[in-house]
Amino acid sequence: MNREKEIQELMELDKKHFLHPTSPIGQQQEKGASFIFTEGKGIYLTDMSGRTLIDGMSSLWNVNIGHGREEIGEVAAAQMKKLAFSSCFATFSNEPAIRLAAKLAEIAPGNLSSTFFTSGGSEANDTAYKLARHYWVLKGQPNRQKIISRTKSYHGVSMGATSATGLKPFRDFTTSIAPDFHYAENFSTESLRAVIEREGADTVAAFVAEPVQGAGGVHIAPEGYFKEVRSICDEHGILFITDEVITGFGRTGTYFGIEHYDVVPDMMCFAKGVTSGYAQLGGVMISEPLHKEFTELSTGTLLHGYTYSGHAMACAVALKNIEIIERENLVANSKEMGKVMLEEFVKLQQQHDIIGEVRTLGLIGAIEVVKDKKTNERFESPIVPQLVAEAAKRGLIFRSVIFDGQDTLVFAPPLTITQEEVVAMTNIIHETFTAVENNLVKI
Ligand code: PLP
Repeated sequence: MNREKEIQELMELDKKHFLHPTSPIGQQQEKGASFIFTEGKGIYLTDMSGRTLIDGMSSLWNVNIGHGREEIGEVAAAQMKKLAFSSCFATFSNEPAIRLAAKLAEIAPGNLSSTFFTSGGSEANDTAYKLARHYWVLKGQPNRQKIISRTKSYHGVSMGATSATGLKPFRDFTTSIAPDFHYAENFSTESLRAVIEREGADTVAAFVAEPVQGAGGVHIAPEGYFKEVRSICDEHGILFITDEVITGFGRTGTYFGIEHYDVVPDMMCFAKGVTSGYAQLGGVMISEPLHKEFTELSTGTLLHGYTYSGHAMACAVALKNIEIIERENLVANSKEMGKVMLEEFVKLQQQHDIIGEVRTLGLIGAIEVVKDKKTNERFESPIVPQLVAEAAKRGLIFRSVIFDGQDTLVFAPPLTITQEEVVAMTNIIHETFTAVENNLVKI
């Protein structure tokens, strides 16, 4: 079969049989896949028709070490040949899971010392909420059931994670969410205090926050916010959970995002960058004192576990991924290239009338689109979907955020990106804005 026919066949099969995650279902069913990717190398992805694009999102904020790492493939194959999987339930264990848990204790902030493994970030969030509630049961305070999260937050799509997600459309997608979830305004400690007061501190189990809000539009906390959050939680005996699913493993220019704020959480969710997407893995780390209390107070079985908790192959991949992050100084590169990305974004801001605020922290960033720079007024309908489509034609993938009246582009390129590649990426952004602005003038 020639390539054209093969692509056509896959397009039809995709439309007919593949229900895509988080996708515009009508468009996908009607037009089929926009790209069928076949290969990746570094910051680049190539599709079946031979088009190569810069992956300005590290796919789903996760391919931190870049695409096409053969040594990860070799580790995965070796582990699969030896032992792909064995149970970690009860008292069974395996070497990669043990070594990964120990490595995570070494690199995680403060006294976060032990890990419960999951298959991804949503499960990590559900696990954190359940462990927090179980902790309060063990402590004789079973009424502490409520989880407080924030507006514009994203914590995943399992039932608990959906319920904690502050972006309302994700909750409205399903008619009924889990009880005992409440929302404070993002970055408002007054709002957090008000929610605690309204609900009663002795009914609150935990507060959960992303160190940088990712899917909600890359919102970076103001100075002092997390310090105050920590002290509010301490004041009321509330557990503080950070969701580092995006911000972990170097994304923001530190190993974990919360390190920017000199604060240590009681629990930390992670996923994505732990394997850079080479295997499905996530988890929750808990602090040493919490672990000690779990051990001392527990009388029965920890009745929470996924079949793939501690998956041997995924854990072996994670260990190699972390080795690469350290060997290639990717956390430092994220910090350095993040500065270059910001400088380039500021240049773009000066060149284009419709670019408002720009912001980065390490290699996560956002460009806001405005109708009027002075007043910050937005266009009647968001422009960013057009920009995404035009950029893809020019060889760059990034994402748009239009929740809550936003008109924002978000970026998270692989941490391996070089200065030349950052410039290549921003050149395409410049051409894209020029094309869309010309179009706006014509209209
Ligand atoms: N938490 C955050 C902050 C995320 O950004 C995501 C996914 O984007 C999740 C949780 C959910 O992770 P997963 O999609 O692996 O379930």
